[in-house]
Amino acid sequence: MSVESVSGEIEKLYAAVPQLRNIFYVMSKIGEGTFSSVYLAIARLKSGEDKKFALKHLIPTSHPARIAAELQCLTLAGGEDNVMGVKYCFRNNDHVVIVMPYLEHECFADILHSLSFDEAKDYMYNLFKALKRIHQFGIVHRDVKPSNFLYNRHLKQFALVDFGLAQGTPDTKIEQLKVLQVKKQGSCSQSNPQNIPVPRELVQPSSTKQSVKRHWSHSETQINKGNRGKEGLLGGPTQRCVFGERNFNVHSTVSNENSTLKVVKQPKIDVSSRKLAAKKTVPTKNTSGSVARKTASTGPASVTCDCYARDQVCTICLARSRQVAPRAGTPGFRAPEVLTKCPNQTTAIDMWSAGIIFLSLLSGRYHFFNAADDMNALAQIMTIRGSKETIQAAKTFGKTITCSKELPAKNLRSLCDGLRTVNTVFIESAEQSEMQKKRSALQIKMMESQDGWFVHNTCTESLVDPTGSRDDLESLAEKMDTEQSNMNGWDRVPDDAYHLLDRLLDMNPSTRITAAEAMLHPLFNTTENS
Ligand code: ADP
Ligand code: MG
Ligand code: ZN
Repeated sequence: MSVESVSGEIEKLYAAVPQLRNIFYVMSKIGEGTFSSVYLAIARLKSGEDKKFALKHLIPTSHPARIAAELQCLTLAGGEDNVMGVKYCFRNNDHVVIVMPYLEHECFADILHSLSFDEAKDYMYNLFKALKRIHQFGIVHRDVKPSNFLYNRHLKQFALVDFGLAQGTPDTKIEQLKVLQVKKQGSCSQSNPQNIPVPRELVQPSSTKQSVKRHWSHSETQINKGNRGKEGLLGGPTQRCVFGERNFNVHSTVSNENSTLKVVKQPKIDVSSRKLAAKKTVPTKNTSGSVARKTASTGPASVTCDCYARDQVCTICLARSRQVAPRAGTPGFRAPEVLTKCPNQTTAIDMWSAGIIFLSLLSGRYHFFNAADDMNALAQIMTIRGSKETIQAAKTFGKTITCSKELPAKNLRSLCDGLRTVNTVFIESAEQSEMQKKRSALQIKMMESQDGWFVHNTCTESLVDPTGSRDDLESLAEKMDTEQSNMNGWDRVPDDAYHLLDRLLDMNPSTRITAAEAMLHPLFNTTENS
């Protein structure tokens, strides 16, 4: 983004929330998502010291209940155990700015290949610490991924951020998440942007201080501290749907290479009484560029239809009401029960996402999965965890999956070791001979042909030898110099790491390892590992 457009955006931020001018000097934009923009700002403390803050400007259309929930997660669960806290919150009309301590952090993709195994282990331990904390509060984060888990490698500091999609467990301690649970079943209509109720304690009275002078050195007196006060305010009678995506249910089919995958909502449809009906599909793009047909569905569950085992959806199914299941998050990090729209999702979904991060760390591949939609994401999971295992697990949460091809579960260590070797060889290839370059290119080609969806981020077209076969690769790999001077501990990854990975990527959410259990996993037994 150009300097001009950023300074223009900063001006807009000041205009939207004029109180900020008196307190903060906004320096740059550090993040932009669908629901917010995040800025780096400096404020002068009473002590005379300048301090950095992160200012999260929520999009003005954010639902008040959503904003209140995000704030309450930060104020109640944040500030401890690697969970980001909140300092202040400002509101002016429909604009809300959350002020957090600033944590300078690395870009995960940039450091992935230089992390030692011990650093990776430390990263996971600290992530579990944060997850244990929020799960104790009955918060399901729903969007656990590296960009929401800030890591300052130098300071060894971590912070889980972004409760913008969080939901509560049935016994959540976050009152505003309970409000969301109730509200999300209601209708979705536009909220009144002039009347956003936000927790009183956290909001700057917008009518007073109209000064736009930039004397931010006097700031402390003009802001209300975000304390751990009770927030019970929620007024708007109408609301806007904040769960973003539509829930398409029942038959969703997609062709993934040679296999076809289908998720069918139970109870099963009576196959014998199906009648031909008009077909209508909602095409969506998938990774391979082909078209996946997603379906809106439900209606009287007893009505039988014609589209079972077809990749098209009948009008009966199109007329069915949609099953309500939260579907927030990023496809590559979504747990199988999220992908199949299991209605009762628990904190276990965050543990799955943590498992995907661990898979990236162990394999050196990020993003590990890059599916554009849920059916492809599920197909990708199947090729690693096995089709039978996936089908079996789906049964436990009431979903029937059919898959045209049986896929065996992969050994996690061989998978990760294989991918990591490719990465290591490639990174060193600048100093390598042409021959070695060819080898690594061949290896990459092999991995990609095995697992078609891996992101090509470590591979350039010119390096790929079109004549390279798997045999070439294997003979070359055998000849490869196995002596690597600095393996950063990656040559000694203990079995415990793969055991933990296996427990995180447990297809069954009810047996998947919890954050508290993960912290006690033998992998983190320091006497053994140091
Ligand atoms: P969104 O809902 O738009 O994803 P996030 O809360 O995840 O918003 O923030 C977006 C990005 O802004 C983060 O990925 C991170 O890079 C940066 N960011 C957010 N909070 C902080 C913070 N407290 N300190 C430093 N950077 C932050
Ligand atoms: Mg985010
Ligand atoms: Zn149908």
